[in-house]
Amino acid sequence: MVKAMARERLYLFDTTLRDGAQTNGVDFTVADKLAIASMLDELGIDYVEGGYPGANPTDTELFGKDRGFGTTFTAFGMTRRPGRSASNDPGLAALLEAKADAICFVAKSWDYHVKVALETTEEENLASIRESVRAAKAKGREVLLDCEHFFDGYKANPKFALACAKAAYDEGARWVVLCDTNGGTLPDEVESIVREVVKVIPGDHVGIHAHNDTEQAVANSLAAVRAGARQIQGTLNGLGERCGNANLVSIIPTLRLKPEFAERFDIGVSESALKKLAHVSRTLDERLNRAPNRHAPYVGDSAFATKAGIHASAIMKDPATYEHVAPEMIGNRRKVLVSEQAGKSNVLAELERVGIKVDKDDPRIGRLLEVVKEREAIGYAYEAADASFELLARRTLGKVPNYFDVTQFDVNVEQRNNAKGQRVTVTMAVVKVRVGDDNMISAAEGNGPVNALDLALRKDLGKYQKYIAGLKLTDYRVRILNSGTEAVTRVLIESEDEQGERWTTVGVSPNIIDASFQALMDSIIFKLVKSGAPA
Ligand SMILES: [Zn+2]
Repeated sequence: MVKAMARERLYLFDTTLRDGAQTNGVDFTVADKLAIASMLDELGIDYVEGGYPGANPTDTELFGKDRGFGTTFTAFGMTRRPGRSASNDPGLAALLEAKADAICFVAKSWDYHVKVALETTEEENLASIRESVRAAKAKGREVLLDCEHFFDGYKANPKFALACAKAAYDEGARWVVLCDTNGGTLPDEVESIVREVVKVIPGDHVGIHAHNDTEQAVANSLAAVRAGARQIQGTLNGLGERCGNANLVSIIPTLRLKPEFAERFDIGVSESALKKLAHVSRTLDERLNRAPNRHAPYVGDSAFATKAGIHASAIMKDPATYEHVAPEMIGNRRKVLVSEQAGKSNVLAELERVGIKVDKDDPRIGRLLEVVKEREAIGYAYEAADASFELLARRTLGKVPNYFDVTQFDVNVEQRNNAKGQRVTVTMAVVKVRVGDDNMISAAEGNGPVNALDLALRKDLGKYQKYIAGLKLTDYRVRILNSGTEAVTRVLIESEDEQGERWTTVGVSPNIIDASFQALMDSIIFKLVKSGAPA
């Protein structure tokens, strides 16, 4: 009998909250950090690096008390400064005081940096590593050492780079992490250097920390695993300074779904947790107030989107024909785009996805396709606006109730001097709505005409108000299109409900307020349909 080979454990280390916090425009609060850390904990990430206690008030507060995570909550900091004793270094003391399960030290491993940046000797650098690891171990912490510039250092002086790593390992560090700090190392170099390192330090004590400066941080991380490393450090959505860190959101599904890795390794992220990955990725973007990258591998909106008609008909027969993995595995979804060159099969597939049952020979499908083509010719973009497409389809099939009518609206923009003599612009919208036999008038001020109109429109919808209470606008995009002699404006609005579900609607008109109004109306009506509001 052939015994199945036991799978090796591969560990994941997230540094979104430390290295990822170096991203331009990212500024986490303690509440942000706690929310993201719990999300990573639930996902099954082995280590979550929370920050650098002692270096800033946020991180000092974060590590000020025990947070009770299941993950190994890790504090980051420097080894003791050259020329000081471990017991007489305030930075190290703050790190040792932190309420953390593990401490990740960073130390130089490139002789050039030791000389030029630290202005000390190689021997003093090694002593600093040894004493810092010893001090943290004595405090009962699990210890990791990030070897800064390891790959560049190894190329310049392999003996010294290895000596730094070995010093930490010999002193009892659980992990020695090889950092490609400048991010310029290529996968074949990473693989051959890691192969040399694991001859000296066992691979199940070696980690990789890759930066994305040649767009290969993910490839470099996988190359290191191939060569024997057993810990991968990275961030959610590849956050990080310059071009970012290795993207765990791409690495995790690759490890779980690609046989080369899935058959050899176990990771802490379970099959069911993997199904939340797309949600995790979007939730982080939402916290950072960024529009998600539609083209992100595995989790992006377009990752499983198909446009050409011929592909669409094959996908309907068997999705595997044009998909490298099933989108549901990572909580994403298949999307067949409806566009100018789309065939009937695209429309059918899209109807099926949004849950509209219709016979494939139903003549109304041909009519829907005609309408889509006509409207796309004048500027509508249904492939970007799935919710508007769904409404159009439901209307063509006679399935959208007439919930309410907007009988009139008025938007007023006024620029004048205020009481202090300052120039101000004031915007106000008034909307008249009829719901059944009730007539309502709502007014709202906004920071612009579209904002005012949106607020007035959603202020009072009578009996439908409760269905739209959790609705909010998350993105608003405008494009001027030149169709023939006349320029028209296309507005795309992204909305979100209380469950975090997002949809996009579209409006087109020569008038930007009018185009915005159409997209706003579609968004509200879509929400009513989705919530099953009675007619
Ligand atoms: Zn880094």
